[in-house]
Amino acid sequence: MTDVRISTSQIKLWSDCKTRWAFERIEHRSAPPGPAATFGTNVHAWVAAHLSGQQYPDVTRDELMCAQALLPHLPSRAEAETHFNFVHGGHGWHGYIDAQDGPHIYDHKTIKTLSKVPDLAALRGDPQALIYAVGGAYEYDTVTLQWTYVERPTGAVIPMKWAASTKPQQLDALLPTADAIAYARRTVTEANSLDGNLAACYKYGPCPHRVVCHTYQNRNKTMTTPTKLERQLKLSLGLAPTEPPPAPTVKGGLMHAYIGCLPIKRASQRPLYDMAMLIESANDAIKVTHDVAHWRMIPYTAAGVLAVAIKDTIAAIGSQGPFDVYSVFPLPPEVLSVIITAAAEVTKGAS
Ligand code: SF4
Repeated sequence: MTDVRISTSQIKLWSDCKTRWAFERIEHRSAPPGPAATFGTNVHAWVAAHLSGQQYPDVTRDELMCAQALLPHLPSRAEAETHFNFVHGGHGWHGYIDAQDGPHIYDHKTIKTLSKVPDLAALRGDPQALIYAVGGAYEYDTVTLQWTYVERPTGAVIPMKWAASTKPQQLDALLPTADAIAYARRTVTEANSLDGNLAACYKYGPCPHRVVCHTYQNRNKTMTTPTKLERQLKLSLGLAPTEPPPAPTVKGGLMHAYIGCLPIKRASQRPLYDMAMLIESANDAIKVTHDVAHWRMIPYTAAGVLAVAIKDTIAAIGSQGPFDVYSVFPLPPEVLSVIITAAAEVTKGAS
């Protein structure tokens, strides 16, 4: 048996984007949970406390409303957050079940819109459902699974329920993925050595690894918009790095910002980031966070939104090590003020 434990989250992460899997499972780059994940965690904690008769955690009003909306679809008492593990196909498999009452297994999902709830055919073949059916109640031949979807923050609910076999052979279709994960665990040392999946960059909100991901940073190589042409011109003049920024290796968070000029005689080989690229990343994040179809829909007066998004992006870079940022173009005053606050040293105007 391999010493790699396979979980639903590993399979999901690997299937979505191998590079992201490696950033998190090989390079151990952690990112703070976003608002949607925090909301879901708090709802789960409240429901678990209710089902097991424990003390309720502090939650917001919206989280409480969603948690309470789940209760009519759950047993009044159940085992909550139970851990299972078993061996199949040479791998250890494990997981945590939100709630269980004998052969009845429950999972709660907070979701942005109920229109995204999968149909039963998709749920029957979902890796999580297959793994939980085998691991959750192996003493039974069949179990019932109920995935209950609750919409944030309205509390509208759709429960999806079906019967499933507990036979381990139903996991055989997942074995090639489990084998690939186990092999990658042994052989991969750098996330950027794997091909990323651009379709996954905003699947659950902005991927926190965009600033260090070569796949993401090179995504616009064939783009011919004026912004790209400007960047290509700067590249041809030797004014910007011709290679993707190297993954930072030095601990710390020091940032030097060059606003309205370009850095010369840099003292070290710290990674150098183009502010235009950071703004692009921030705009992508805004599109998702504020649910707009196109970033130009955000008026200029929303520079604060842009500033916050850039600050988040800078924080993500800063957590990896010292770096430099340059912008040869003027920036909105509110954005500039965020940069100056975050930077250890700012050089303005003269190159
Ligand atoms: S930015 Fe996109 S391609 Fe890169 S690791 Fe994240 S999801 Fe994968």
